[in-house]
Amino acid sequence: MSGLAVTNLTYAYGSKQALSGVSFHVAQGRFCALLGPNGAGKSTLFNLLTRLFTPHGGQIEVAGHDLARHPRAALGHLGIVFQQTTLDLDLSVQQNLSYFAALHGLAGRKARHRIDAALDRLDMRERAGEKARTLNGGHRRRAEIARSLIHDPAVLLLDEPTVGLDAATRQAITAYAHQLAEDGKTVLWATHLTDEVAVQDDLVILHKSRVLATGDAASIGGEYSLKERFLSLTGAAA
Ligand code: ADP
Ligand code: MG
Repeated sequence: MSGLAVTNLTYAYGSKQALSGVSFHVAQGRFCALLGPNGAGKSTLFNLLTRLFTPHGGQIEVAGHDLARHPRAALGHLGIVFQQTTLDLDLSVQQNLSYFAALHGLAGRKARHRIDAALDRLDMRERAGEKARTLNGGHRRRAEIARSLIHDPAVLLLDEPTVGLDAATRQAITAYAHQLAEDGKTVLWATHLTDEVAVQDDLVILHKSRVLATGDAASIGGEYSLKERFLSLTGAAA
């Protein structure tokens, strides 16, 4: 099976339960919003998906590869943009991407080709020579998304990639991620903002370590707006 599958995933920090029996599936080429307020467990889930943490129970499959049993194959199909920026600010965009390509065993002409293609996709080619430090927040995020594409992963994980960006940049980056799904990538996009979810998206609502709803965004919203539905499910104030 391709795409991303998470089955009965459990994780706790000491006595603090962070994920409780979390299950969902994202089919290949789908954009899935992982929607949950702060503290829901989104970043913990990403740490399990990238194998930084080991689950206390449950199973993860990336592009058909079991993460625990075949970690190299599974991780090779995974691209990730973490919540905190991880660019080296003293390197140029090109150097940041070259370093990452080398980590994936890509060098020479092949690496240059992949880097150029990824930068083109994010409209970042003309900034290749600029130091990451001189880029604004939106361009840093775009550089990170380009970096996550270099090894041509089947599954892309983005953890609240629009936090701190202005509305126009937020909208542009959300649109890029939807475009990547249309081009065949499986995208898992963590957010606490309902306006980043499009009606045609898949949706997983996570709250206090548990999945409250999965399905397509339009039917989860039902007769209400997704925002109203989300606030009533999570008990947050409007
Ligand atoms: P989100 O990304 O949805 O905001 P997190 O996965 O960061 O949620 O956190 C889920 C829960 O786990 C929260 O209650 C948070 O306080 C707790 N948590 C996160 N990291 C740690 C940690 N290193 N030690 C203890 N508790 C943690
Ligand atoms: Mg988080």
